[in-house]
Amino acid sequence: MQSAVRSLRADLLVVGFGKGGKAVAAALGRLGKRVVVVEQSDQMYGGTCPNIGCVPTKALVHHAHARRPSDPPQEWYERAVGEVHAITSLFRKGNFDAMTENVGATVLTGHAEFVGPHTVSVDTGDDPITVEAEHILINTGSTPVIPDIPGLRTSEYLVTSTDLIHRTVLPERLAIVGGGYLGIEFASIYRQFGSRVTLFESTARILDREDDDVAAVAEGILVDQGIDIVTGANVTKILDGAGEATVQYMNDGREHTLAVDAVLAAAGRRPATEGLGLAAAGVRTTSRGAVEVDEYLRTSQPHIFALGDVNGGPQFTYVSLDDSRIVLDQLLGEGKRTTADRVAVPRTLFMTPPLANVGLTEREARDAGFRVKVASQPVAEIVAMPRSYVVGETRGVMKFVIDVETDEILGATLLSVDAQELINTVALAMRRGIKAGELRDSIYTHPPRRKRSTTSSARSCTVTSRETDEERDWRSNSPDSDVLTTWRGPGRDEHQLHAGQVP
Ligand SMILES: Cc1cc2nc3c(=O)[nH]c(=O)nc-3n(C[C@H](O)[C@H](O)[C@H](O)COP(=O)(O)OP(=O)(O)OC[C@H]3O[C@@H](n4cnc5c(N)ncnc54)[C@H](O)[C@@H]3O)c2cc1C
Repeated sequence: MQSAVRSLRADLLVVGFGKGGKAVAAALGRLGKRVVVVEQSDQMYGGTCPNIGCVPTKALVHHAHARRPSDPPQEWYERAVGEVHAITSLFRKGNFDAMTENVGATVLTGHAEFVGPHTVSVDTGDDPITVEAEHILINTGSTPVIPDIPGLRTSEYLVTSTDLIHRTVLPERLAIVGGGYLGIEFASIYRQFGSRVTLFESTARILDREDDDVAAVAEGILVDQGIDIVTGANVTKILDGAGEATVQYMNDGREHTLAVDAVLAAAGRRPATEGLGLAAAGVRTTSRGAVEVDEYLRTSQPHIFALGDVNGGPQFTYVSLDDSRIVLDQLLGEGKRTTADRVAVPRTLFMTPPLANVGLTEREARDAGFRVKVASQPVAEIVAMPRSYVVGETRGVMKFVIDVETDEILGATLLSVDAQELINTVALAMRRGIKAGELRDSIYTHPPRRKRSTTSSARSCTVTSRETDEERDWRSNSPDSDVLTTWRGPGRDEHQLHAGQVP
């Protein structure tokens, strides 16, 4: 998989095989430009998302959720990890083949370091390869932050998210330091696989950007899953022992200890600029260590761009992809597109069910001086959302924040089954200036007619999308209770469909 050439000239050099860089590389390669892509690891073709980020973690979310309490945790987990790695290998190979065969780019495997504004040296293990290019994209992503806790960095029980998803042994007791997106996602995944999970968060509550009401529902779901959440926690030390680590922490003014099998550092990720030689290229960084860019993603050297996590923007694959559109517009288009064009960028925390947001929370909207009306309802009570009952997942809440004067949607938080998909419709509406009333009154697909049999009173009922007067009468005259049907979700609790909830 390696070229034998010791020096190369290119029209475009991409440092790091991330999302944004590969999209620009593909577009220019297809136009016949000479493109070189440098990736430091043969396990990372395609970047973080398909190898150690979105794809494996979301696949683990799926496998963890599918496990029934009777399924043996270790066996189930090991099989899940095996299946997940089969997918990531497929994607990795697909990325490499597409770049070399379809795009016609040269892929070099090795660490890249700038030695001048137009030149990069690649350490491929043999003699370094020098690449000189007209345009260069820095797309090196981010690396985990390991908090400065005595004993943590040297602990043999320390794991990053990457380490953890490669382990085939399920940690029986898992401590997670950091209650942000990554920490909560991993807490939810590993708890469902059967680990005993303790989540340590230094602030007064997890999800502190969310409104209190939404955070309370989300936290309730996590606690019901059996996750121990310790907020206001100050982890002071990690002590390695024989076969286990001890987490020392302060909480409520007292010192506590907890014995665990693994400690996951989930304190965020920082832009990956170490060892890149940015000074040799004359590329400046910000005080937070990101590559400094303008709204066109040009660095302090106009022929060098930075895309994705490394430029300090929101750390999402789709933001890196959007960065590629800005860079392509600079290289091939009118050069008008900027990061300021981004409106209503949604995000999802993949707990179960997922928590997705777009725009402002109620608190943010009020702080910004808007007069707001709030539409908020528990998922279990939303008549128009039968899917939650169909899949047996009725936990959660939907909340919309609307401008009283203009009916504009200022923001939405959806904590529900399918929230990661639904949020995109809301985001598109916000981007297109579609008002809350229009969004509400739009026409949406609906589950077809389906029959369910009751277990409570041996009667059967038809759950319809449009109920007839007869059906409504039948239900309101129903003799015993307003429970129409009772069933069990896949390996989960018992659910009941109440009369007032039929769609
Ligand atoms: C566990 C986890 C789960 C996530 N889940 C989601 C999710 O569900 N949805 C979502 O949108 N985002 C998610 N993310 C974030 C998302 O993966 C990143 O925002 C995105 O992949 C960043 O892409 P990028 O273009 O910046 O570069 P990356 O995809 O990070 O690629 C950078 C590449 O550069 C290489 N590299 C670094 N330095 C050098 C060098 N000097 N020389 C050569 N190569 C180098 C690296 O090896 C890497 O392959 C998740 C991240 C993690 C860690």
